[in-house]
Amino acid sequence: SSAMAKSKFEYVRSFETDDTCLRNCYIVVRLDGRNFHKFAEQHQFAKPNDDRALGLMSRSARSVMEELEDITIAYGQSDEFSFVFKRTTTWFKRRASKLMTHVASQFSSSYVFYWKEFFGEQPLLYPPGFDGRVVLYPTNHNLRDYLSWRQADCHINNLYNTVFWTLIQKGGLTTTQAEDRLKGTLASDKNEILFSEFDTNYNNESAVHRKGTTLIWEKRNETVSKRIKRPNEEEQQVPVTRSRRKVEAYYCDIIGDQFWEEHPDVLED
Ligand code: ATP
Ligand code: ATP
Ligand code: MG
Ligand code: MG
Ligand code: MG
Ligand code: MG
Ligand code: MG
Repeated sequence: SSAMAKSKFEYVRSFETDDTCLRNCYIVVRLDGRNFHKFAEQHQFAKPNDDRALGLMSRSARSVMEELEDITIAYGQSDEFSFVFKRTTTWFKRRASKLMTHVASQFSSSYVFYWKEFFGEQPLLYPPGFDGRVVLYPTNHNLRDYLSWRQADCHINNLYNTVFWTLIQKGGLTTTQAEDRLKGTLASDKNEILFSEFDTNYNNESAVHRKGTTLIWEKRNETVSKRIKRPNEEEQQVPVTRSRRKVEAYYCDIIGDQFWEEHPDVLED
């Protein structure tokens, strides 16, 4: 805003609508890659899970947590990531559009910025985009159910995709044959196909693929060696320990109670 006198145009600001998020609620921003089915194909993502792409998603999410205020936990799978702002945040006066667009643009620019760290010389062929939405959850129970919903989605999709691509890659089926084979099957049927026909126990598949990625802040004691020079003494190397906040990644169940009991600071009263 400028220090100039108000112009006759100033009234247009009053056309802006109030999108302040209700107080006391957790503010969740979920991003999802735009048309990533095509993006994955064009950039030769491995099927069903490309670890470079998952690593880049996590790296970008970490950048969002480090650069923006008050995000306590983030959960991601496939081309999506959810970010949870603490219920007491006053960042940008809790304006939904400000929070959402900052998350989306920080994430998108990081995705491009860190591309090379994960894809090496393979070029990024065009600028990817992400949509965002804001959802408010008033209780810890609702917030946990939200995150459980996303992890259950990860599980259902990954189990399906794992069997589907195993039938094709190891079973020699065409995509149409694999689709037909899986029509109407339950989770138990899919586990059984993997186990009896491909000697694969689904529970031994990579945790990041089965559970997705959960990012939280953790305090870690970090010891560094510091040079200290006191008057009339020799310079000394002294170990100095300090507590630092760091974003840590987990690839575990977040539907049950254990994760939340082990990390009681994530949820507020
Ligand atoms: P906020 O995050 O609140 O938007 P800000 O620092 O971006 O904070 P703005 O009011 O958006 O504040 O102002 C943008 C500032 O960026 C300008 O005041 C100026 O200092 C700088 N800036 C932007 N574009 C240019 C440019 N083309 N040349 C020189 N300076 C620029
Ligand atoms: P929309 O724009 O509506 O979101 P979309 O094509 O992005 O369309 P999604 O439902 O978001 O559809 O699905 C994302 C798709 O991106 C997956 O189905 C998969 O094909 C691909 N994809 C995303 N991440 C990975 C990954 N790590 N490895 C392999 N494929 C991936
Ligand atoms: Mg400006
Ligand atoms: Mg600005
Ligand atoms: Mg979608
Ligand atoms: Mg998508
Ligand atoms: Mg998606």
